[in-house]
Amino acid sequence: EFVQTLKMPGVGKNKEKDEMMDSSKLKKMSLEETRKLLPIYPFKQDLIDAIAEHQVLIIEGETGSGKTTQIPQYLHDAGYTKNGMKIGCTQPRRVAAMSVAARVSQEMGWKLGNEVGYSIRFEDCTSERTILKYMTDGMLLREFLSEPDLGGYSILIIDEAHERTLHTDVLFGLVKDIARFRPDLKLLISSATLDAQKFSEFFDDAPIFRIPGRRFPVHVYYTKAPEADYIDAAVVSVLQIHVTQPIGDILVFLTGQEEIETAQEMLLERTRKLGSKIKELVILPIYSTLPSDQQAKIFEPAPPGGRKVILATNIAETSLTIDGIIYVIDPGFCKQKSYNAKTGMESLQVTPISKASANQRAGRAGRVAAGKCFRLYTAWAYKNELEENTIPEIQRTNLGNVVLLLKSLGINDLINFDFMDPPPHETLVLALEQLYALGALNHRGELTKLGRRMAEYPVDPMMSKMIIAAEQYKCSKEIITIAAMLSVNNAIFYRPKDKIVHADTARQNFFRPGGDHLTLLNVYTQWEETDYSTQWCYENFIQHRSMKRARDVRDQLESLLERTEIEVTSDVGNTVAIRKAITSGYFYHTVRLSKGGQYKTVKHQQTVMIHPNSSLFEEHPRWIIYFELVFTTKEFMRQVIEIENSWLMEVAPHYYKARELDDGAIKKMPKRIGKSKNDLTRTY
Ligand code: ADP
Ligand code: MG
Repeated sequence: EFVQTLKMPGVGKNKEKDEMMDSSKLKKMSLEETRKLLPIYPFKQDLIDAIAEHQVLIIEGETGSGKTTQIPQYLHDAGYTKNGMKIGCTQPRRVAAMSVAARVSQEMGWKLGNEVGYSIRFEDCTSERTILKYMTDGMLLREFLSEPDLGGYSILIIDEAHERTLHTDVLFGLVKDIARFRPDLKLLISSATLDAQKFSEFFDDAPIFRIPGRRFPVHVYYTKAPEADYIDAAVVSVLQIHVTQPIGDILVFLTGQEEIETAQEMLLERTRKLGSKIKELVILPIYSTLPSDQQAKIFEPAPPGGRKVILATNIAETSLTIDGIIYVIDPGFCKQKSYNAKTGMESLQVTPISKASANQRAGRAGRVAAGKCFRLYTAWAYKNELEENTIPEIQRTNLGNVVLLLKSLGINDLINFDFMDPPPHETLVLALEQLYALGALNHRGELTKLGRRMAEYPVDPMMSKMIIAAEQYKCSKEIITIAAMLSVNNAIFYRPKDKIVHADTARQNFFRPGGDHLTLLNVYTQWEETDYSTQWCYENFIQHRSMKRARDVRDQLESLLERTEIEVTSDVGNTVAIRKAITSGYFYHTVRLSKGGQYKTVKHQQTVMIHPNSSLFEEHPRWIIYFELVFTTKEFMRQVIEIENSWLMEVAPHYYKARELDDGAIKKMPKRIGKSKNDLTRTY
């Protein structure tokens, strides 16, 4: 099946040691001994000295060398946490922040949440005593709002800088600025790949500290022909490796929870069929919304004689290092945001990865011994179809959120903000226009009172506007429930492959007229009435842990209502009020049924479709508002409500013109004209 065409060379000094490290020996070692084996360990003192000497230091080191877990501990030993000063370390991904904090607290023998803690959106696991703080880059950004000079920190580590997330990119500009007037603050920019030069240039030629990596050679295999179904191909490859290859764990890169669950079910089913004919294969998923007790499992060693296979999102590319991986399966895709600055449409798409990503993924196979990477695409595709590098997020996303935040920090001149790679001018202008339309900025581009309140919420400007607008429509209780349910990423309904009919019936029983937001509200309200019962979730094909998370988010939104002085009011049956509040936030996302029977966005006449899972899929209302777009075979709107066009003039008179909202002579479409549900093989 595979052709071997390339051998990625091993680098570093351990090339000759081509055999595997004995993982059982590793297991018996104490944590302290394990720490001393990390590539960074011999450089502890050099690193401390370099940091003492320079205010800003760029640190470059292979993934797994110990940057994230060790550097904060070294700096603690070196005295940077005296007088309760904190060492902050940012991570682009929530899972990484949680998992790394857990590891470090374990290594230091402290309880997580005390001296070592983490902070991610809607979850703060820190205390007064916390001195080593791991957090998402987005959370550090928000800390600027309450403490503009970040005076509580002696050191900030902007970790995983090569990921170039939107928040990390904005942090670069902000921390560079505060370092100028806080000479006592140390700044470390840490990265896995060879971008160090670029970071150094941005930070006024800061010195680069390189940690020599350890890497064994990795053989790369390609498929002879493109794979039509990469999930199936990945599953087949896992089983082939398991049956034919020597011991060593497998890492598979998939694009998200849904794919991971599909692959997991397929693997379970096929290994079950093979029964005792094969050795034990432990299947472990890892993705951002997985509960932390399950996340921790990926680090447990495989059973003796058996093997583990980890089904991961991009998280395992550089953010998390799992020891013992010898085989990597790389289908060549990841889920990415893409943004069209002309239409303002943002959607999630499964996109081919870059060459840089492909090489990082392959590198995961060569940490403890020579490894193999199976690419589920052709060598030709690698060479000719993949981009060199991933485009930084700042150049392919809506900037509304960040612009609102920077404005609240008093940064008004965004065009001249110190960006490493500036966002496209039109994206910036569009963000300003959208914030103006939402009422967050006035015509001079200054923050309004509403804008200031909106910035208090760690959510999208559209969502914060919806929440604040609910005050006027007297339905803030319902709206924060809806906001919380929308925040759990489509993980509410459970749809096991062997019970699809039951699951779909259960889901349809929750449908409420008016649209999906009201369905979500209904699910939550019913669950609340059962006193948050697990059994009820189980019986109704609802994912209990997603509901628990929605409840946490909801609790926090409720306390934010208090902080922004919005009364918690309820108007249960009044779906018009609820939908008007939603419209107040999401009016850009208005779509109309056109004469040809297609849905088109009002402003830009883009064709979009209702997602087949929506309660409105067969209803064809004339005017709808969507929550988000996902691109699979087409642009699908996920979570939609029916609205009346007259509401738009009420909530966004400065955005829509009456003639744009003219209803013409369109008739409601007869039912069942749209595409059949069966046309969709897979949705994301
Ligand atoms: P880097 O940041 O340079 O990529 P890390 O500090 O994340 O490296 O990882 C160093 C080591 O710590 C790796 O061997 C990794 O497997 C281990 N490690 C990190 N987090 C955990 C965890 N939660 N459980 C067990 N081991 C972990
Ligand atoms: Mg790291």
